[in-house]
Amino acid sequence: MTLLRGVVLGGAVLGGAGLDGAGLDGAGRGGPGLEGARADVRIEQGRVTEIGVLTRSPGEETADGGTLLPGLVDEHLHLHALAAAASSVDCGQPGLAVALRTAAADSSGWVRGTGYPRDDLDAAALDRLHSGRPVRVQHRSGALWTVNSRGAAALGLAGARHPGIERDASGTPTGRLWRADGWLRTRLPAAVPDLGPVGKRLAAYGVTAVTDATPDLDPATYGSFAALPQRVTLLGVPLGQQAPPPLATGPYKIVLADSGLPPFPDLIDQIRAARAADRAVAVHCVTREALLLLLAALNEAGPPHPGDRIEHAAMIPADTIGELARRGLTIVTQPGFLADRGDDYLCDVPEPEDLYRVGTLMSAGVGVRLSSDAPYGPLDPWRVIEAAVQRRTPRGQIAVSGERITHGQALQAYLGPPVRPGVPADLVLLDEKGTVKSVYIGGERVAGAPSSRP
Ligand SMILES: [Zn+2]
Repeated sequence: MTLLRGVVLGGAVLGGAGLDGAGLDGAGRGGPGLEGARADVRIEQGRVTEIGVLTRSPGEETADGGTLLPGLVDEHLHLHALAAAASSVDCGQPGLAVALRTAAADSSGWVRGTGYPRDDLDAAALDRLHSGRPVRVQHRSGALWTVNSRGAAALGLAGARHPGIERDASGTPTGRLWRADGWLRTRLPAAVPDLGPVGKRLAAYGVTAVTDATPDLDPATYGSFAALPQRVTLLGVPLGQQAPPPLATGPYKIVLADSGLPPFPDLIDQIRAARAADRAVAVHCVTREALLLLLAALNEAGPPHPGDRIEHAAMIPADTIGELARRGLTIVTQPGFLADRGDDYLCDVPEPEDLYRVGTLMSAGVGVRLSSDAPYGPLDPWRVIEAAVQRRTPRGQIAVSGERITHGQALQAYLGPPVRPGVPADLVLLDEKGTVKSVYIGGERVAGAPSSRP
């Protein structure tokens, strides 16, 4: 049993409004302004059992003061890629040549790089940077891997067949592999990274539940998720299967690749197959064209299915917003990208007013959830919340001020369900400065200082 004594209930705790205009400090954390009622909260056997003026029972652990919020939920991230990124060369920084030349190989003998920002690598270019060992470098979008010649040989690229293997006019592989992660896994030495450190990082931020958005997960990797203290939902569970509890099976992930949209009838078939398996769909949709294709396919596939979501929705033309609301679609988006690389978008995108919409969606009644897409976007939810509020690019431009939302709205779009007696005790306690003080998942403290036992 744990008693949280004299905590300020953030407006969202009891499911009320009241978070709007909440005074959060410049770092985006919930500050003293998040005032609601002050109360004691009892946790018993993993659940919130009482909220009110309570007396400490003998031997009961206590924590005093702070602001209590429901745990944060990261609705879209890639857990294995996040863990692997920790042992990879960060190719997003200047000095790529030195970084790759001096990089240590992993246990399988490969050098793995991530976060490469440009579109100018091929096997020959990588050979000039590092030819001694097999190297693979991932584009920061996650959609493209480039291997050097040793890597191409190790993968047997020349004789392999996969639509994502790019070839030059003579049929020789260029070293570039588009959306071929599933195929790559079959050619690389099996390695399922330890998710323990990822779970600790997430817990320190106050994240109590996550949704892994990787498509086509290999069921042999499900066991790795047990290293996380967070509740885990998987979008990549194959149709007709269920992930074993306590893992939850989410909507079915469909990728509309930015590099080539599927034929319209194929997309309709995929959506219908998910419907037949009683799964909602979660569709990766970055471009305007992908969104229009998806909306047309959803119309063809039948009535709306509760839980259908669009992942990223980086470009939303204004005249589709009404339809998004009518279909009850949830937009799972990542304004953190604006803080990370917004200047590039403002240069590259013809209609920047459609970029990572949030404010106009919320005003139109479209459900919006914020998320990280880590490791491709920043993992820190407080940074994503701040990015949703400020929409400031690294060079200080504002990416469409009309899409800004308040701190309260942004926080709400990250929080789990309201805290009431009977719900699982997934809770975040913030200190007076609004920094995460302790975090509970199912009543277990997973981050923060030990409670006192006076
Ligand atoms: Zn993603």
